[in-house]
Amino acid sequence: MNAILLTPPGTSAPVDYIEEVIRRVKAKDPAEPEFHQAVEEVLHSLAIVLAKHPEFRDTRILERVTEPERVIVFRVPWFDDQGNMQVNRGFRIEMNSAIGPYKGGLRFHPSVNLGILKFLAFEQVLKNSLTTLPMGGGKGGSDFDPKGKSDKEVMRFCQSFMTELWRHIGANTDVPAGDIGVGGREIGYLFGQYKRLANEFTGVLTGKGLNWGGSLIRPEATGYGAVYFAVEMLKTRKDKIEGKLCLVSGSGNVAQFTVEKLLQLGAKPLTMSDSDGFIYDPDGFNREKLNFVMELKNIRRGRIREYVDEFKKAIYTPTNGKLPYNPLWAIRADCAFPSATQNEINAKDAANLIKNGVILVAEGANMPSTLEAAKLFLNAGVLYGPAKAANAGGVATSGLEMVQNSMRLNWSREEVDDRLHQIMIAIHRSCYETAEAYETPGNLVNGANIAGFLKVANAMIDQGLV
Ligand code: NDP
Repeated sequence: MNAILLTPPGTSAPVDYIEEVIRRVKAKDPAEPEFHQAVEEVLHSLAIVLAKHPEFRDTRILERVTEPERVIVFRVPWFDDQGNMQVNRGFRIEMNSAIGPYKGGLRFHPSVNLGILKFLAFEQVLKNSLTTLPMGGGKGGSDFDPKGKSDKEVMRFCQSFMTELWRHIGANTDVPAGDIGVGGREIGYLFGQYKRLANEFTGVLTGKGLNWGGSLIRPEATGYGAVYFAVEMLKTRKDKIEGKLCLVSGSGNVAQFTVEKLLQLGAKPLTMSDSDGFIYDPDGFNREKLNFVMELKNIRRGRIREYVDEFKKAIYTPTNGKLPYNPLWAIRADCAFPSATQNEINAKDAANLIKNGVILVAEGANMPSTLEAAKLFLNAGVLYGPAKAANAGGVATSGLEMVQNSMRLNWSREEVDDRLHQIMIAIHRSCYETAEAYETPGNLVNGANIAGFLKVANAMIDQGLV
């Protein structure tokens, strides 16, 4: 499509221009609903920015930020343990490098497709901008499902995946990390293969093992960061996290360390889940119970239902796809930390959370609330921390891992945790103050979208027509 067909700058209200860009994004790639959802949310936040800054419209920034700089799609052939040939599809979206090298995780999950990765990459651009660190945005992954695969199968897949990806990435070009289905094991196999092919030891991936360039606190960072962000939100109402009943979804990296930090701060996490169902422990988790989940998920790679075999008072509820809502979000609590996947809270779930007294939602997962759910939270005055702000601690600590790699130094656990904490405080302040400055006080969705956008958009203008 031709950009000249757009309404000429200055002749229509920003809202018309925004709607026109959204319409064109949808028309161009109609099969990418998650990407449309993310674009719609962000662009709607920007109406007031465009009214104040006509230069963004004149320089076609919205069309440019919604178009990836580069999309790489590739074949990933590998042998399973039975000697059968398997073929998956690999992706890397290099979305925006205006403020630094592309940076963002790799997701291995059967649901992965171009639209999901584009939404994640688009969100990542603004999130990375919020961290204050010099990182552009990207995302990648594959429709490969690590569940039920042996370590050797995962290794062969990762080696084949990196055999193509390595030529596109580099410590100063594009620095992938983990996401759903990509943890320490996968990063290890990917890094090993990169090193063989590139013949260099550089910080090309983050989330590395501690003995070979990883940073302390990186595994904990997303979950810890989400709780630090929640603490900041509560402070604005002179409230604290101590004693709060908390709903957590997921039982992977983000969920585990969200629960860990909640326990450290005296809150009472009640639930965890996987795609098969959720557990509700009315007594709340404690260190021993969390250790059990960590061993179950990270070492035995089992299912969350096994928790109730060990802790008899807990209740397991299997996932029921026919229900129009998730009963996990209908449990009475004060705070919710969705930490599994996108769109896991729909309007009905949001209504249940509000009805049952939830005063805070901090998003550990990426875009876990539908647009309707997010609106309900905002309208009900819930303290609502959107993903790109609340879960930015993960990529921020990846940024700190890059700094340590460049200096060939390792910081202590306390130093990294303190920096993470300060970054989360700064992100909250920036979102809060930006929301006020743009006349929507308390609306951290607007605050995060606007603050993240301004830095990237101004950098793009400085760099000419890029
Ligand atoms: P993990 O793979 O470690 O864990 C994912 C968890 O979510 C598992 O319990 C998984 O259950 C569950 N899950 C995944 N997909 C679905 C689904 N479609 N329906 C129901 N449950 C599902 O991933 P992470 O913890 O790393 O990531 C969780 C979320 O946090 C994602 O949205 C990710 O993008 C986001 N995030 C992660 C960061 C990180 O540093 N890791 C940084 C910022 C955001 P099962 O095992 O059954 O699939």
